[in-house]
Parts: sequence; structure tokens; C-alpha cells
Amino acid sequence: MTAHAQFPLLMSPLDLGSVTLKNRIVSTGHGTRHVQNNKVGDTFIAYHEARARGGAGLIITEAMMIDENSVNSPGHLYVGTDDVIPGLTQLADAVHAHGCKLFGQVFHLGLEQMSTLDGRRAAAYGPSGGVSERYHVSGRTLSRDKIAELIAAFAAAARRIKVAGLDGVEIAASHGYLIAQFLSPQINMRTDDYGGSLENRMRFLTDVMAAIRHEVGADMPVGVRISGDELASDGLTPEEVLEVCDLLDATGDLAYLNITSGSSRQSGSAVHIVPPMSTDIALTAGYAAAIRKRVSMPVMAVGRINRAGTAEQVLSSGQADFCGMTRALITDPEFPNKLAEGRADDVRVCIGCNQACIDRMHRGFGVSCIQHPETGRELTYGMVETAKNPKRVMVVGGGPGGLKAAAAAAVRGHDVTLYEAENRLGGQANIAQLLPRRAEFGGIIGNLEKEARDAGAKIITGTRVTREKIEAESPDTVILATGARVFQPPIDGIDEAHVVNAWDVLEGRANIGARVVIADWRCDWIGLGLAEKLAKDGCSVRLVSTGHVAGETIPRYMRDLWLGEMHKLGVEMIPMARLFGVDEDSVYFQHIASFEPVICEDVDTVVLSQGHEPVTELEQALQGWPGKLHVIGDALAARTAEEAVLEGLEAGANP
Ligand code: SF4
Repeated sequence: MTAHAQFPLLMSPLDLGSVTLKNRIVSTGHGTRHVQNNKVGDTFIAYHEARARGGAGLIITEAMMIDENSVNSPGHLYVGTDDVIPGLTQLADAVHAHGCKLFGQVFHLGLEQMSTLDGRRAAAYGPSGGVSERYHVSGRTLSRDKIAELIAAFAAAARRIKVAGLDGVEIAASHGYLIAQFLSPQINMRTDDYGGSLENRMRFLTDVMAAIRHEVGADMPVGVRISGDELASDGLTPEEVLEVCDLLDATGDLAYLNITSGSSRQSGSAVHIVPPMSTDIALTAGYAAAIRKRVSMPVMAVGRINRAGTAEQVLSSGQADFCGMTRALITDPEFPNKLAEGRADDVRVCIGCNQACIDRMHRGFGVSCIQHPETGRELTYGMVETAKNPKRVMVVGGGPGGLKAAAAAAVRGHDVTLYEAENRLGGQANIAQLLPRRAEFGGIIGNLEKEARDAGAKIITGTRVTREKIEAESPDTVILATGARVFQPPIDGIDEAHVVNAWDVLEGRANIGARVVIADWRCDWIGLGLAEKLAKDGCSVRLVSTGHVAGETIPRYMRDLWLGEMHKLGVEMIPMARLFGVDEDSVYFQHIASFEPVICEDVDTVVLSQGHEPVTELEQALQGWPGKLHVIGDALAARTAEEAVLEGLEAGANP
């Protein structure tokens, strides 16, 4: 079935003012950290070109900082001087070569300014002073002169975008950043004509729009991104946003509205900016639908629209005119082309884990994908070349790392056989998906298995590999992806207490008493997930973590959602304590900073989440084996699926 028959709206053109998109699939503005020294470079161009080549209809650049005060990292694109123009032109040329349109987003952080480029705490600006709860920043009130300067800076940025050859401009009025701070009656306390009434609070935005229009002329499409609900205690409500959109529509000057949700300003609202897998799909479609009923311009919905069918449903139900599918395009840059070729079943679906995309960005590294580490590494892995000297490759272990290794080697023409000792593929991913809020994680296995089989790898389950088997088959290369097992540290008094491990609980093998202490060294999904599961099962739960906060090592939006749930469930959280010992009804910890004891009394069951250790028996048995050996993922050191899949790619691409 052709794409136009299966997804007639999603794959149909859309006019945004004078610009026609070839389809309604959009890569929305998102920080990539592929920017170097605040400028467009080869990595950044290759990243966006991959999605243009894959068939996206529109790419919107990441938030481009219009003012030096809003630049807090060399990984942010700065559009405040003309020297950004040549790089943007190269980007536009690369994107246009594939029939994709490119808009530039103009942006100011306002109070959400964490630091300056040289590491100082920032002297941030707000409409009327104020603070950032999330970044602990207090702001200066913008003078009228500075307001005029910023409006001119937005306009100058738009001029540079036009001169560089981009197709449109998007104004970021979303997520609690500067323009949204002006719009909010709870943040904007000005008493001049930029504060007070809605018209006054909108004046900064409408002045920016007018100044941009003056610079770019009548034809260039200009859109606004706004949160349909900031979901924050000081944020815009859906009713307020509807009024804002009414007035924006009345200007007749906008080509579209891009409806997102959430706000940077509070942890509980920031989670909606890039909603993780436990949140609804098509998160902003409801807000977009309400706005679309009242305005005369196209409206975009975003937020976990991870499948073409979901997008088509959003469009066909009249909720929106086009769809932001950013992570879907990070996971599978080729997905629009696959739809166009009638290969919807071949699309690698985003599982909403946030691990290698937004979390890498938050950690200061370039955006990639846990399932498709080629994303963000296009200069290294963008082109697949067939091996001149194909090898016989044996992969041992059918978890995410082994499957990716098999896929990467087979697609390059190597003769690959993957062996898995268990009767089903997946390794620890099968256990991870048993955690609350992680049910979609198992999708990584289906996606990677398909990738490996489609590439031509042979997959054999229920077969344990030994040195003798390797010697009998005599492959050129062995890739060991044997994973990890539960690590059991020495614990004083363990024989006196009821102690179980996390896997036993998740796989239903443990009897759990009413009063539970979870000893959480990993500070990851497991401790939080077990606490949620057991609290919902009716247990009284204490979650004792070695880190500063439970979930310290996981993507912050996922962690913050979970911490909110912990509070609602009444889970007692005890940070900064290492497990020391147990007895019949007590658990003994030591505070990691004071070294004083932390004692939990009246405990029925202790659940250990103390990490994992590599399965190394086969590696040890292979000492002296003459072939080429790669050890990847948890078999190398127990970490996460992100490292396993990336190391699978590295080993499989060069077996
Ligand atoms: Fe989606 Fe996870 Fe990949 Fe991010 S890392 S694009 S959330 S599958």
C-alpha cells in the first residue's frame, strides 16, 4: 500500500504561508549539542541533513540565542552576529538538497539562564525581576531600553536567518522562557505597558513579531511556538493560552502555531518538554485541537507522536494540521521515506526512554539514540560501506548490544551468526520492561532483532556458546555480549534477615513483607521502579540511596516524574547512605558524608539494588584464542543499554 493510501494526511503537502511542506512530518527545534563554539559545524549539518535525506517535510533549528545574555554553553547556536550566516547557509543548502524546508527558531532564556559562557552565575533578565526555581537564579528587571534592545536583537536574528537562505522563522514563546515569562500574569509584575492586561503582557511578543516582519518582509513565514498548558504553578493555563492564540490570530501575521506543553521553570512542568515513555502519546494534541478550533492558521501538535498511525489519527481527527515527530526522526531518520515506499512496518519506533537523546544533551553531549547510535555520529557511521573482505562473525549474547553488533556487521556484508543462551532474545531489557513506567523499553529488542534479521544475520536461541564451539566453528571474529548478572556485595548479617534482589522481585520470585527497605546503590530506574511497584502493592517503603537523590543517574525528566510519584505514594526517601549490614528486623547504613550510622528499624524485607557484574566466564575461557575478540556492553562493564548498543555498533562496523 502506498504512503498516500495508508497515511493520506501525514504524507500530503501543507502550506505555511508562502512555503509548501512536502509532508507534515516535522523535526521541531531541539538542542542537539552538535553545535561547536556556538556555531554551525560539520557534525551539526550532517545531523540535520540525515533527517532531511530521510524525508522530513520541515526541520526547525534548535533554539538560536539572539542575545549574549542567553548563551550559557558553547553547545548553543548563537545568532546574534553576522558570522553565523555562512554556516546557516551551508545547513540550508544541505537540507534543501533533499526537498526539506528549514526554519530558524529565535529564542531567549530570560530567567532560565543557568550560567554565562565563562562559568559565572548569570545576571539573568526577567520582565520584572523574579527567580528561576529550577536553576536557583534571581533575575534583573528588564529596563525599557533593554526591552527595545532585545526586540531589535530578535529582528536582527531573523534577518540573518533570511539572508542565510532559510525558509521561515519560529519565535519561541514556549516552555516558560523569556517571552512566556512576559505572557504569564504570575511572573510579569510590570506596571508599564508591558505588564498588567493580557494585551500589555503580549506586547513584548507582538513587538518582536512586528520587528521580525519588518526585517524579513511580507512573504517569509513566521510561526510561534507556545505551550498549550505550561503545567506549572506560575505558568500559563490552557484558558490563558487560548486567549493569547486568539490575539495572535487576529494579527494575521503568523503562518502557524506550534503547540507544545510544559515549562522549564519547575521540575514537575519541565518533564512535559520532552515527555518520557510513561506519559501519554500525542501529549499536546488536545491543546492543539482546542486552539485549532479558534484560529485560522495551521496548528502543529507534538509530544510523543512516535508512530505514523498516531500522527495520521491526530490529523484525521482534526486535532492538528501537522506533527512534530522529533524523537521519531532521531530514532529512524529514514522513517518518512519508509512511509513513502510503503514500508511502514520497517520503521524503528522511538520508545520514549529519553536516554541517549535529551539526556545526552542534558549531560553536555551530542544527541543520539539508544536504538540507533548512528544518529549524531553521521560523519562516522552515516554511510554504510560493504566490507571488501567479509568475515565470519560470531556474536554471543542476544541482548541489545549483541543484536546491534550483529546488525552492524551483517549490513556491511559479513557472515554473522548470533547465539543467545536463553530461549528468547533481550537479556536485561526483558527485566527492565517489568518496571513501572518502563513497559515500552522492551520495544528495543523487537526493533534491533528486526534490524539484525533484515541485515541478514542468523539468530540462534537456546544455545550456550563454549570455547569448544567457537573452535569448532572457527569464526574470524567473536563479539562477546554476554551481559551481566546481579551483583551481591558482602553484607554483614545477611543470613539473619529476609533479603531479596531486584530481579527476584520483578520476576515474581520473591515473597515480600509489609515493611520494605530498598537499598539502592545504582540510583537508577530500578530503585525508583521497585519503590513504586511495592508501594502500589500496599507495602510501606523506604528507599535508601547512595546518591544525593534516588534516580540520580537517569534522565532528569524521568527521574522528576518518579520523584513526584514517590511523594504521592508516601515512599520515605533517604539519600546519601551506603548499605552496611542487616539483622532480623533492621538495616544498617552509613551516611556517605558524615560516616554516621543511618538505621532503618522494623523492616520485614530488604530489597537489594546493588548493581550488576559482567558475565566473563567465556571471555576467560577464550584466553589465548587466536581470533579477533570484542567484549562489549555489560560484559565489559555493567552499565546501560546505551553503551551496549553503541559498542555493538562499533564492534559490528569493524569486526
Ligand atoms: Fe526515542 Fe529513546 Fe531514541 Fe530518545 S533515545 S530517540 S527516547 S528511543
